[in-house]
Amino acid sequence: IIDIQSITKRFGDLTVLDNLSFQVQPGEKLALIGPSGSGKTTILRILMTLETLTSGHILIEGEQLWHMEKGGELVDADEAHLHKMREKIGMVFQHFNLFPHKTVLENITLAPRLTLGVPAREAEQRAMELLDMVGLADKKDDKPASLSGGQKQRVAIARALALEPKIMLFDEVTSALDPELVDEVLSVMRQLGEETDMTMLLVTHEMGFARDFADRVLFFDHGHIIESGPPEQIFTNPEEERTQSFLRKVL
Ligand code: ATP
Repeated sequence: IIDIQSITKRFGDLTVLDNLSFQVQPGEKLALIGPSGSGKTTILRILMTLETLTSGHILIEGEQLWHMEKGGELVDADEAHLHKMREKIGMVFQHFNLFPHKTVLENITLAPRLTLGVPAREAEQRAMELLDMVGLADKKDDKPASLSGGQKQRVAIARALALEPKIMLFDEVTSALDPELVDEVLSVMRQLGEETDMTMLLVTHEMGFARDFADRVLFFDHGHIIESGPPEQIFTNPEEERTQSFLRKVL
């Protein structure tokens, strides 16, 4: 469903992603792990079109993300193309990014109403189903400020799901949470993984979760994929010295 072909990303002189390629299968749960600054978040941001690509190509369901066909040639994507492609993807951020002045329900219904033109009643009905799923139906009229971090993050997950994406990106979604709130967010993600066939990419420092949730783990360092494989292999029998030394530090 995602085909990343030789992508490079530079910020000025700094090469954050260095000519890397990988694919993600439909329904796959892929965990991206690696040291801080290795470029994991940047990959998710490029997929979400929040960051541009320096070079390379990305295909989503066989269709170019950052490029489009025009007169038989491949040219840079225009806003309309990016907009269309973006609808396939939802993202949940480390710091929630909820609208502070809107209620929980409004946070979830806003994008479907404005970007997809879903009628208010229908958007609300769907939002309530999602709030039920994340266990927060009773908070629908609350403002984000009155929620715990774990609750905010569950609202953020419901909000991303409201646009019915095929692919969900989770960027260190538990890193900003108090330890006792981490599990409630991970269990929503686990439920999503079990009950839907959604493709999920997560950047995470929760090695235990990556290990029992992911179908496959990619280990990154300095903008390169060092090693990729099923979690049992990466966590118990990594081949590369760099993976071994990273895991010695974090496990
Ligand atoms: P972490 O686990 O700390 O989030 P990461 O692997 O997700 O790390 P990225 O956030 O992708 O790493 O960042 C990779 C590198 O790119 C870092 O050195 C970071 O400072 C740099 N970087 C990210 N965004 C920008 C930007 N907008 N401008 C300049 N440099 C950036």
